[in-house]
Amino acid sequence: MDRARPEDWYRLQTKADGVTLIDEPFIQPFYRCNMWHIRGRDRDLLVDSGMGVVSLRDWVPLVTERALTAVASHTHFDHIGCHHEFEDRCVHHAEADLLANPTREATLADPYVTDDIFDLLPPAPYQSATYQVKSAPATRLLADGDVVDLGDRTFEVIHTPGHSPGGIALWEAATATLFSGDIVYDGPLIEDTYHSDAADYYRSMVRLYDLPVRVVHGGHFPSYDGARHKAIIRAWLDNHETHQ
Ligand SMILES: [Zn+2]
Ligand SMILES: [Zn+2]
Repeated sequence: MDRARPEDWYRLQTKADGVTLIDEPFIQPFYRCNMWHIRGRDRDLLVDSGMGVVSLRDWVPLVTERALTAVASHTHFDHIGCHHEFEDRCVHHAEADLLANPTREATLADPYVTDDIFDLLPPAPYQSATYQVKSAPATRLLADGDVVDLGDRTFEVIHTPGHSPGGIALWEAATATLFSGDIVYDGPLIEDTYHSDAADYYRSMVRLYDLPVRVVHGGHFPSYDGARHKAIIRAWLDNHETHQ
């Protein structure tokens, strides 16, 4: 398989409310993480940082324009690969150890990462067999109800365990925008990893259902509106009634 050039690795898409989607088009859609850059007055916010196979700092100038807080929605390999490039790193306390010690097994790089997840391989010297996320110990641990403050806009941490124990969503009430991570998005959800929990997953979905969302920016697949949010979660809850 051919390798991509580093300058082609990332793709940027401007959304409303100072939000920019950064993603990695040569990774197949199911494995391709959405990174969300949010412009603030005093600092910017980055929700997730991709696989880390090409430097975000070197190839996406947007992330170096201002002080930046890099939040991990959770610590699977596709979401935290470039966290080590940022000084200010936040993660829920339940996955703090994973961000500091991201082994191939703990981040799901083993078994998910093979050459088959790419349409073009990352630039040399990348190798799927030895790919590993770099350690990036958190500088701030998050808990449910905490606030990430950019000066003129604030994001409430909603602990959403189930996909993984320290999964979080970020809720900006002023714009009714939810950054949901991998707990819910418009595609096949993953409920069976080594640290998934069915009862937690159900409770998280019930909680998210009631949010008055206008737009959801998820960890994978395209963004969607409030009606789609209700429809996705309603269908999911109907399929998981036994956990009620
Ligand atoms: Zn995940
Ligand atoms: Zn993911």
